[in-house]
Amino acid sequence: MFDAVPATALVEVVAGHFDALDAEAARLDRDGGFPDEGFGLLRAAGALLAPLPRHVGGQGIGTEPAGGLALLSLLRTIGRASLSLGRLYEGHVNALKLIVHYGTDAQVATAADDVRDGHVFGIWVTEGPDPVRLIGTGATSHLAGEKLFASGACVLTRPLITAQPADGPPRMVVARLGSDRNASPTVGGLTGMRGAATGRCDFTGMPIVPEQRVGAPGDYLRQPEFSAGAWRGIAVALGGIDRLVDTIRDQLARRGRAGNPHQAVRIGEALIARETASMWARRAALLAEGGMFEPGDVAATVNLARIACEQAGLTVIQLTQRALGLQGFLQTNQAERVMRDLATYLRQPAPDETLVEAAMWFTGRDLPDPERRP
Ligand SMILES: Cc1cc2nc3c(=O)[nH]c(=O)nc-3n(C[C@H](O)[C@H](O)[C@H](O)COP(=O)(O)OP(=O)(O)OC[C@H]3O[C@@H](n4cnc5c(N)ncnc54)[C@H](O)[C@@H]3O)c2cc1C
Repeated sequence: MFDAVPATALVEVVAGHFDALDAEAARLDRDGGFPDEGFGLLRAAGALLAPLPRHVGGQGIGTEPAGGLALLSLLRTIGRASLSLGRLYEGHVNALKLIVHYGTDAQVATAADDVRDGHVFGIWVTEGPDPVRLIGTGATSHLAGEKLFASGACVLTRPLITAQPADGPPRMVVARLGSDRNASPTVGGLTGMRGAATGRCDFTGMPIVPEQRVGAPGDYLRQPEFSAGAWRGIAVALGGIDRLVDTIRDQLARRGRAGNPHQAVRIGEALIARETASMWARRAALLAEGGMFEPGDVAATVNLARIACEQAGLTVIQLTQRALGLQGFLQTNQAERVMRDLATYLRQPAPDETLVEAAMWFTGRDLPDPERRP
């Protein structure tokens, strides 16, 4: 079941499942859906174990410096077929990455065993009116409060969450969830990304043993990892942009409209936007995973990449609407769902602050070039 295939082959295996993943994404376009089939395919291909280091059976994709570009291709490929599956898989990778980076050897080994046993990880940090607290210390602590906008809220069994202790900065905790959780698969009806089961989960009363705490207080917010991890979300969104660019070209060609100069301009502009996002994503991945760059440079570059990708995504959505016209708003046209999914997925935290901080960082210095080794 967990036959590992090399990283590049893994991308090809997943790309080969495009039709199945796409069909599931269309089926799950309802609030609270979860891509069980997609996760089954990823698990069978070894993609769930792949982010872990080699010594515990993984391939180091996204946790060892050489795996950055392989992970970029993998996330982009999944996102092209299903942004919801891409979001959930990205959360799984993110959680494992944090455990590998900040956890003990025993916690990494436990995470690997959990993945082999079929558990899926996630990262739930977004708070609502009742933020999650860690009450008590040592072996007697427990949680109170709930997480909002939690992808896979009723399904994931190993979410890594942040919890606020009585004193000091937040801590990371791996929650061990079963079917008896107090969760809801929805937060009131998102217009897009409905197949990511984005909901809420209440942790009140859940006991926490010391082995579940990952890293030291404040590690979750430590730079550059805190900002750098956003490059993986960019990679998934890039897959959605790829999909729309392909859709514009295919549908215009099929309708005999691609030769029109105005439509040709749209195709050209969409390709430019896509390639811009792609170049930023590559630079962000190389810097974030390279492990040898100034932390401020890494965080600020990934932040610029986030905004560049957001702008490219919004541009391509607008070009899709103008190119396809009302046909692109029919629910029978897959472009309609992909546009809703991408528009929703592009809403990421604090975009204004992200751009301003990055701009200020690079006002007095140049961006690093990860392709030119120092
Ligand atoms: C499909 C999907 C799945 C998700 N899954 C998860 C998950 O699994 N786990 C998880 O933790 N989270 C998840 N999230 C939540 C996500 O991480 C972000 O919290 C969320 O997308 C933030 O979007 P926002 O537009 O509300 O951001 P905001 O930061 O609220 O930004 C909205 C606007 O307000 C501005 N703004 C921000 N702060 C201020 C301020 N203080 N004063 C004035 N203006 C301000 C921003 O610049 C922006 O213009 C998910 C989100 C989506 C869409």
